[in-house]
Amino acid sequence: MKLSKFNVFLYDYNIIFNTLTGYAIKVSDDEMSKLSKGEIPEDLKDIIEEGFSDQEFEPEKMIFEKEYLEPTLLLTYDCNFDCVYCFQKNFRKKGGVLDSVVRGFINYIRKNAEGKKVRVTYFGGEPLLEMKRIEEISKELSKELDYSFSVVTNGSLLTPSVLDRLNSLGLSHVQITLDGPREVHDKRRYFVGGKGSFDIILNNLVYAQDHTKVVLRINVDYRNVEEIKSLLLTLKEKGITKVRIDPHLVHENVFRNEYWDNLFSRDEEGEVLTKIWEFAKEEGFEIPQEVFRLGICAAHVDKDIVVDPYGYIYPCWAFTGNPLYIKGRLKEDGSVEYNGKFTSKTAREVWKGKCDNCPYLPMCMGGCRFFSVLENKGFDGIDCRKKNYEEIVKLIRYFI
Ligand code: SF4
Ligand code: SF4
Repeated sequence: MKLSKFNVFLYDYNIIFNTLTGYAIKVSDDEMSKLSKGEIPEDLKDIIEEGFSDQEFEPEKMIFEKEYLEPTLLLTYDCNFDCVYCFQKNFRKKGGVLDSVVRGFINYIRKNAEGKKVRVTYFGGEPLLEMKRIEEISKELSKELDYSFSVVTNGSLLTPSVLDRLNSLGLSHVQITLDGPREVHDKRRYFVGGKGSFDIILNNLVYAQDHTKVVLRINVDYRNVEEIKSLLLTLKEKGITKVRIDPHLVHENVFRNEYWDNLFSRDEEGEVLTKIWEFAKEEGFEIPQEVFRLGICAAHVDKDIVVDPYGYIYPCWAFTGNPLYIKGRLKEDGSVEYNGKFTSKTAREVWKGKCDNCPYLPMCMGGCRFFSVLENKGFDGIDCRKKNYEEIVKLIRYFI
């Protein structure tokens, strides 16, 4: 038996983690030393065979075997907020998704579910401005399919009654953002006109955390990094401890660059986020296993379309609104006209011949298509995140 090339050896913790199978094991000093030389201790043979032995990375097969169809619909480009770093600021538009696109989306799912579970993400702008559309689509799809959905929302409109309504329609979870304690958050994420949003979101969170799963997104840059601890302590004080913390670095977008000076470099990502996770864990918040997830995303999966309110299809959420990165158009009958650009196949294959022996390949797949574009390497370039993964995998120690 040969050891997998996707085993990561964390010598400081005597842990071996396999980035493809997600298996992690704690071993003795002696076992660690043997395994690092490729020798397999007799009493570990079974577990090594199951989770740490030689396997091929076959994204096509994984995508084919996926249990879910996971399309995304942007219900509007409009928003009741005016966040400092919003990448959609330049193409904010009143009004919601077109009728023909709603019909196209429902028809698309009917045609493509093929017995799979359907998990829709509603995105925006602020998707809860278009609550009626969530009702309309959910009622239709839940009649005939195993349907659930999530909403990426700023949280301001997620009152208890709206949440109850969403639950009755098939809500699986929500993503809400808080960027710091009140004085920090309110300088970054405010309503159109400038009014702070912290108190309203916090109130909604108190109810939400008991009635659905909440992913709490925290957008981090130089301006708020020192305040994240204070945010977590405030949440604890208010009894909001059931949310799953999800910190991300604020990143630049092809549309905007005036916020550039406040951003961490991409090389700092692993270190910054790991510190936040560690503090969150110490304070009793959960680290979601998704931190170690496989790198397959919407850009890699043809069927997981990301559709905007006008029916344009993009490789993933980060490209939405940019006419240069449209990959197709959804028609009312649920068929899609692709233009041959930014294909999932291209996204799935960028790593071939470049990253074949990298232990982080299953998590990374050659990096993020959006960042590759942002760094002028094109849609099929490599966006190497090795340094970040080397930090993030250390968090596996909390799961053993
Ligand atoms: S809530 Fe989201 S869509 Fe609205 S302004 Fe903020 S970042 Fe942009
Ligand atoms: S881009 Fe870098 S980290 Fe990602 S798979 Fe390739 S070599 Fe590994």
